[in-house]
Amino acid sequence: MTVHQLSENNSILNTFIAEIRDKKIQKDAMRFRRNIERIGEIMGYEMSKQLPYITKAVTTPLGTKLIDLIDDKIVLCSILRAGLPLHQGLLNYFDKAENAFISAYRKIKPNGDFDIRVEYFASPSLQDKTLFLADPMLATGQSLVSTYKALLSHGTPKELHIFAVIGSSDGIDYISKYLPKQTHLWIATVDDTLNNHGYIIPGLGDAGDLAFGDKL
Ligand code: URA
Repeated sequence: MTVHQLSENNSILNTFIAEIRDKKIQKDAMRFRRNIERIGEIMGYEMSKQLPYITKAVTTPLGTKLIDLIDDKIVLCSILRAGLPLHQGLLNYFDKAENAFISAYRKIKPNGDFDIRVEYFASPSLQDKTLFLADPMLATGQSLVSTYKALLSHGTPKELHIFAVIGSSDGIDYISKYLPKQTHLWIATVDDTLNNHGYIIPGLGDAGDLAFGDKL
């Protein structure tokens, strides 16, 4: 797996990461969602430099200009519900992408361990397309691997690009073991630790709750 950690170089991205982590600023759900969306836009822009391009002629009112344009069939898939703002950020730039949605949640066992359950799933064919899979928090990596396996029932993508905002080192090691070798991971920043509930430390808390409110 190739890891592209975007915060390795300082940029405006750091401001958005700081705001989603900050326990005072993150309480503003609209700002939290918009910051994740802005991070998705930046990731999409950086990732677009790796896509295949084809030269096309564009006619202006005064003449013709040759421009290299993206030559790829992209399917953008998000893991519900926390993935939605990141999905929107990517879709703002890849507006011609097809879309897929999948749900994954942690079913907590009496001993505190959890299984990942995949239930809702809506996707076009993935056969030979470029799959973008968005999940803002790459904690244990189990949701990403479970959802990728479920998605394969809709065809084998030509390429897999994972988009995450904050990851843990353990989660990155886990997905690099179980996802195809040629996978690319686009990640804003990486923290070292997971707590025993599988939350990233210091992370930011629960991304789904911060974006959309508490759940039962
Ligand atoms: N999901 C979250 O929202 N936060 C984490 O730290 C881990 C998983």
